[in-house]
Amino acid sequence: MAVIAVVGANWGDEGKGKMVDYLAENSHFVVRFQGGSNAGHTVINDYGKFALHLLPSGVFYPGVVNVLGPGVALDIRAFAEEIDSLAQRNVPTPKIAVSERAQVLMPYHKLFDEYEEERLGARQFGSTKSGIAPFYSDKYAKIGLQVSELYDKDLLRSRLTHALEIKNVLLDHLYRKPTLKVDDLVEELSAQAGILKPYVTDTTRLFADALKEGKTILLEGQLGSLRDPDHGIYPFSTSSSTIAGYAAIGAGLPPYAITEVLAVTKAYSSCVGAGPFVTELTGEEGEDLRRRGGDAGEYGAKTGRPRRVGWFDAVATRYGCAVQGATALAITNLDVLGYLDNIPVCVAYDIDGRITKDFPATPLVSKAKPVLKTMPGWKTDISSARSLKDLPKETRDYIEMVERETGVRVKWVSVGPRREQTFKA
Ligand code: GDP
Repeated sequence: MAVIAVVGANWGDEGKGKMVDYLAENSHFVVRFQGGSNAGHTVINDYGKFALHLLPSGVFYPGVVNVLGPGVALDIRAFAEEIDSLAQRNVPTPKIAVSERAQVLMPYHKLFDEYEEERLGARQFGSTKSGIAPFYSDKYAKIGLQVSELYDKDLLRSRLTHALEIKNVLLDHLYRKPTLKVDDLVEELSAQAGILKPYVTDTTRLFADALKEGKTILLEGQLGSLRDPDHGIYPFSTSSSTIAGYAAIGAGLPPYAITEVLAVTKAYSSCVGAGPFVTELTGEEGEDLRRRGGDAGEYGAKTGRPRRVGWFDAVATRYGCAVQGATALAITNLDVLGYLDNIPVCVAYDIDGRITKDFPATPLVSKAKPVLKTMPGWKTDISSARSLKDLPKETRDYIEMVERETGVRVKWVSVGPRREQTFKA
């Protein structure tokens, strides 16, 4: 039995989807426990290239049960469209279960996300406008709706009426937009309930049985440590916890069930959206890295936006691993650095002349300047390496540097975006 949380050690986009797709072959369940269709997990395998948004990255194995846990922001239309898009590309029908306790992302959550960014103008956060912040706000304000509530029409109507009392005041007076009608929403959500019905499951019970039977479960995180609302660069964070500690809650498992926390880190840094990003490269150096990064340049899998890029930030990554409680690391995108004679790495921050290796709270991160050390590059294509011994000494030294700086053992090495470009360290 193993319950492995696969989570991001950085700002997201570390290659979690790729690692989950690789590890899912030997797993019974793959679970999304937080976030929603704002994810963009890139998976490249024999079926082609996919950017999964809401579905867990185990959907390419017909034997794996893919679960959307209670912690997820469930956009039912996006969920159905994603299932259809897999069928259109000849992926065998995956097994999918959705928790009856998951909450439903409402059509108006997307509207509020869009209107709020519009209102903020130049101060906007760079939201993917998938409705995530309004969704989680409503969940904790107790005006959200659980999946199970969709199947009782009177309850549905009364919960929506209650929510719209607040929403319509904001729409009318703050955003100056058309108000919503409860009848329209009841109709739309009843239609969505029908689409969802075959997948609705008591997943908490499912996992209780799975644990007893010693099944292997992968918990697939979205985004990374530095986007966590408690531990990340708040307010430039997401609205749900990206931390392995939350994986137990968002999936519906006891915390002691998690046997491994596999943090995924990129061999350099990338970041989408606003907020302090200490090693950011602008100008030609940044353009060069962005063009070479990932599977087709560093552009958002969800939005297509150019990602901000920079050198490996050991300060942020050590902190990212610590808050995850990482027991092992997967390092991805190592192949990308093969063009460099020398590879700068940020080993400390200079904050107003004070040198520190500790990742500070957000206002000081904004002031930090990177203290760089240079590692020799390997200047060769390593994408066909299939074991550590296929790697040049300089690449192995780089992996050791990551281990030393983070204090976490590197267990997996990824030298390309494809499933088979992965091996044990
Ligand atoms: P996720 O959200 O953590 O699943 O990551 P994304 O899919 O948003 O971004 C990771 C990017 O890196 C995608 O373009 C992947 O195809 C790509 N990728 C993952 N691992 C590797 C690797 O080892 N080498 C290269 N070149 N690209 C990789």
